[in-house]
Amino acid sequence: MEIVDIKDWGLGLSEHLLIAGPCSAESPEQIEAIAKGLKGSRVELFRAGVWKPRTRPGSFEGIGEDALGWLEIARETLNVPVTVEVANTEHVEQALKAGVEVLWIGARTTVNPFSVQEICEALRGTDIPVMVKNPINPDLQLWLGAFERLNKVGIKKLAGIHRGFSDPYEKRYRNKPEWSLPIHLKRLLPGISVICDPSHICGTREIIASVSQRAINFGLDGLMIETHHDPDNAWSDAKQQITPDTLKIIYENLNFRESIEAHPEAISELDKFRQKVDLVDTQIIELMADRFQVIKQIGEYKKGHNLAVFQPSRWQDVMESRIQSGVNKGMTEKFMKSMLFAIHEESVKIQEAQLKEAKTSNKV
Ligand code: PEP
Ligand code: MN
Repeated sequence: MEIVDIKDWGLGLSEHLLIAGPCSAESPEQIEAIAKGLKGSRVELFRAGVWKPRTRPGSFEGIGEDALGWLEIARETLNVPVTVEVANTEHVEQALKAGVEVLWIGARTTVNPFSVQEICEALRGTDIPVMVKNPINPDLQLWLGAFERLNKVGIKKLAGIHRGFSDPYEKRYRNKPEWSLPIHLKRLLPGISVICDPSHICGTREIIASVSQRAINFGLDGLMIETHHDPDNAWSDAKQQITPDTLKIIYENLNFRESIEAHPEAISELDKFRQKVDLVDTQIIELMADRFQVIKQIGEYKKGHNLAVFQPSRWQDVMESRIQSGVNKGMTEKFMKSMLFAIHEESVKIQEAQLKEAKTSNKV
């Protein structure tokens, strides 16, 4: 897939792109107050929701087309391009007509291939940059599919936005970050930039700074942060919006890691450690293979003596003792549990396959 990087969109955008602006455009005065507040910040792209996908009807659903004209105030005040969310043909047509420079597809739209395809058809023949938010559910294929659909109609200026994933058991975040997904996306689509949207991950302004720092630590390419001159009275997402002044403070305090290319000496130093890691990994794999060999022998015995594959008391002992040894060696209980679960699951599968083999050969 041919992807044109943010830096080559012809909009003067740079690495560690900062996108800011309100959740929703509310009035020309609001846009002006926010844009003025953002002067002197590192913002390079101004965001504002014009059509708002609300979970339930009755709440503010966006001003619609009229608000597109107000975005000119932000362009003029800050000398930056603007971006809005589009979810259907009408939105795309109106946004293009109003000269919006960058579009984004929201999380509730990315989940629906019909909607994504409809947007693609409306975009055919243009080369406007499009940012695609991750789908609400942690499904990498759906996210990937949206990029593929856009690419097929000729859109190459693409970027992802990581806004977290819905999880009913999650307490800390509005949308669980699941950092491995955006990182996976970058691996599957070489050249794609992924911007983190800490506002929709956090749902509350207090943890925006720490989630932003984590995004940078994980190597994401920028931040999109909802910013409002009077957050408490915002018409949507009031709890998660921050003032332009807070945004400036958060951004100034971020610790951007240096790119490894700028430090050739670090590459050879790190190589030494990496060789050790490679060796340990090889040993782990060999030991694991030995372990599964023994599991197969146990499987043969269970099969021969008509014993159940899963022996709960043995499993309980294994879990308790191994978790304790791991914790004693400085590993977390969470890590030990997930590793042991994975090993156990694989062991049970191996023995189940042995039993199945036995049954089919008995039939013959
Ligand atoms: C938004 O950016 O305001 C928005 C609606 O986000 P999401 O699609 O991530 O819910
Ligand atoms: Mn919002």
